[in-house]
Amino acid sequence: MSTETKRGFTTQILHGDRQSTIEHGSNCKPIHTAIAYGYKDAREIAEVFQGSKPGYSYGRQNNPTTTALENKITAMEQGTGSVAFSTGMAAISAVMLTLLRQGDHLIASRFIFGNTNSFLNTLMNFGIEVSFVDATDSAQVAAAVQPNTRMVFVETIANPCTQIADLKGIGQLCQEKQLVFVIDNTMTSPYLFKPIKVGASLSINSLSKCIAGHGDVLGGAVTELGQFDWSRYDNIIDTYKKGDSRNWALTQIKKKGLRDTGATLDSMAAHHIAVGAETLALRMSKISDNALKLAQFLNQQEKIVKVFYPGLTEHPEHDRATELFMAYGGLISINLDPALDCFEFLNRLQVPIISSHLGDNRTLLIPVAHTIFYEMGPERRASMGIDDNTIRISVGIEDIEDLINDFDRVLNG
Ligand SMILES: *Cc1c(COP(=O)(O)O)cnc(C)c1O
Repeated sequence: MSTETKRGFTTQILHGDRQSTIEHGSNCKPIHTAIAYGYKDAREIAEVFQGSKPGYSYGRQNNPTTTALENKITAMEQGTGSVAFSTGMAAISAVMLTLLRQGDHLIASRFIFGNTNSFLNTLMNFGIEVSFVDATDSAQVAAAVQPNTRMVFVETIANPCTQIADLKGIGQLCQEKQLVFVIDNTMTSPYLFKPIKVGASLSINSLSKCIAGHGDVLGGAVTELGQFDWSRYDNIIDTYKKGDSRNWALTQIKKKGLRDTGATLDSMAAHHIAVGAETLALRMSKISDNALKLAQFLNQQEKIVKVFYPGLTEHPEHDRATELFMAYGGLISINLDPALDCFEFLNRLQVPIISSHLGDNRTLLIPVAHTIFYEMGPERRASMGIDDNTIRISVGIEDIEDLINDFDRVLNG
């Protein structure tokens, strides 16, 4: 491990597989399709099932190809271990379902992914209290803390209006109050931001977005960052209180989460994600570079009344982003002049694709009020900074001249 930790971000992703047993000399981890395993003898199956010996038990719980991917995610996040799930939502829901109980209180950012918002509403139906606060200000998080508060959940860069949570301030607060601090790192990816640096307990990534990067596979992961002493946390069941207490929660998330939800990542998907992850650093550098240039161009356009991008100096959390992130990422949103028809505007662009999804190699555009935030209704949308002419741009790796020329033609042609 000590030699591995000295290696760079991409070297670890590329060569991590060869730290464990190399099968037939393969340069990447083979795709294992078996869902059950044979053992040396009857004693060994008992040892594997009881966890006293490493090994594989059943495909819902673990698979060598998935383990290899989990090890890569752990290295990227500088964590102590990871569990993969079939989607990012499965990872998020497994964390909440396994670590929270009826009567517990969760504080969540008001600016979160719509499906996460939907899931937190489901939790409320099961007797878990949830407060939504403006997490760009840690004082608002502090003001929401109650005696039964267990967990704080935020994203790094919020979708679509790019608010950035006060990650450092919330990290300090959570340490003082012994609250579990969960960061959804999807928007930044572990290349741009390391939640471990702000004291987070767990980092969650939708692998479907930047990490896989090609819009062809779904996945999610939870990473334990080793900074929370779970012996102080009431909701760990006795069976999982074994060994180093910093790993108890991940054991519970893996055992209970995969068992109860059955939302296991398939080995073929794990392979696709691992291949995508090899170029995460290269893609995120290019995407961030393109996004900054495109945001600066869009910001000068008369027909665009507002550009949301953390790389612009007038962004309210620009300094925070500069301090915490390696670059500003690929998410830009714009509010078109209300006199313009956003559908017509979108239809005239030729290079980007009109599509949901984020973190793809291709630039993607979506009119958010009419699609992904439609169900929320106009009031909640307004509170998030979204209007009917808000367009989200997930910037890709195209040649930047082609993107700028396309927007220039539609705006000024
Ligand atoms: C997409 C997304 C998710 C959910 O990921 P899926 O893999 O699509 O389930 C969670 N959080 C954020 C911030 C996302 O953008």
